[in-house]
Amino acid sequence: MHPPGADTVLVRHGDLNTKSTSVKRYMEGLLVEHLESLVADRSVPGTVVREWNRPRIETTEATIEAAVDAATDAFGVVSASPCLTVEPELSVITDTLANIAPAVYDGGSFAVDARRADKNLPFTSQTVAEAGGTAIWEAVESSFEPTVDLDDPDLTFGVEVRSETAYIYTDSVAGPGGLPLGSQAPMVALVSGGIDSPVAAYELMRRGSPVIPVYVDLGEYGGLDHEARAVETVRTLASFAPDHDLSVYRVPGGETVSHLAETMEQGRMLSLRRFFYRIAETIAADTGAQGIVTGEALGQKSSQTAQNLAVTSRATDLPIHRPLLTMDKQEIVERAREIGTYHDSTIPAGCNRIAPDRVETNGRIDPLLAVEPTDMFERADAAAADATLVSLRE
Ligand code: ATP
Ligand code: MG
Repeated sequence: MHPPGADTVLVRHGDLNTKSTSVKRYMEGLLVEHLESLVADRSVPGTVVREWNRPRIETTEATIEAAVDAATDAFGVVSASPCLTVEPELSVITDTLANIAPAVYDGGSFAVDARRADKNLPFTSQTVAEAGGTAIWEAVESSFEPTVDLDDPDLTFGVEVRSETAYIYTDSVAGPGGLPLGSQAPMVALVSGGIDSPVAAYELMRRGSPVIPVYVDLGEYGGLDHEARAVETVRTLASFAPDHDLSVYRVPGGETVSHLAETMEQGRMLSLRRFFYRIAETIAADTGAQGIVTGEALGQKSSQTAQNLAVTSRATDLPIHRPLLTMDKQEIVERAREIGTYHDSTIPAGCNRIAPDRVETNGRIDPLLAVEPTDMFERADAAAADATLVSLRE
């Protein structure tokens, strides 16, 4: 529960702490810019303040929830706490704890978790914890029978004392973790609008790579709803990245897809994947992207057996990243729900007709190359060159 009067969000990051000082400084700068863009995009009043190790969003009590939501949607954020900010003086801190205790404590055990970033302060964190604990106890003992449990308390009062300010909070909300967006090179994301591919793209964004979404229009095997699904899921991804352009590259693949369906029986699904990868590679070359991300998972479909992934992957020299490789469908569905792409992914789009009656699960490269259209990569390059950009702005 948010303590009354909380008007500042304290932001914690995780993996940045494994970096050298200069890299951490750079990445904290990216994180602050990313937070600024989220706050502005959602019209949350306030400012993002850059402070070593603990960026924060200064807002108002009325908008604290929205500010916490923005902070916990930011890539690189491990958790965020709505805080009261007070003078870094012991008596002020203990008075504040006593003031908020009746509003947030409703029985059970509690603890004070005190930290001191400035070692020059005239009191230790141990002193803050003890004096704070006493103050809270005295504030609630007439209504409850409080207990202190330092190992597994029902409620933790956090106090973080820095040289200029002390932050007081009683909860922390989990963020996505990962690294600030833009701290890694961009990747091309193959998005189909299905459940898997938007989750895969999100995972790369979470680790810092902006994505360049590519949707291949399958012509008579796809359809307008198919494209709409893909664009809507990307729109959701874009809401986490207002400082990046996630316009979708729509690539006209219908002619080649029909050609594959007419000329190939076995292996057609594998060649289709190879066609997708080659398109992605061409767009990566134009945009500086350093890899391809797909929603493939080992064994989920016939085209995703270990043998078939080996065969299809040979269509490109770029690394193909498959963050869902080891995930079960149910886990992927849960992730899609958390991220918010699940709903649009399940708009019925009537496809799948492209699969042959008997699917290949044990593809090999030489027999496939013997039947694949020899001009398939030229077709992919031409289709990529004909891509149109679908803007996400209404
Ligand atoms: P998803 O659930 O994301 O649609 P899927 O389970 O339908 O994936 P496939 O159809 O085998 O699996 O596709 C595997 C991957 O190939 C997708 O996760 C996506 O990355 C890519 N892909 C599939 N269809 C398209 C398309 N029309 N345009 C771009 N990429 C695609
Ligand atoms: Mg899939």
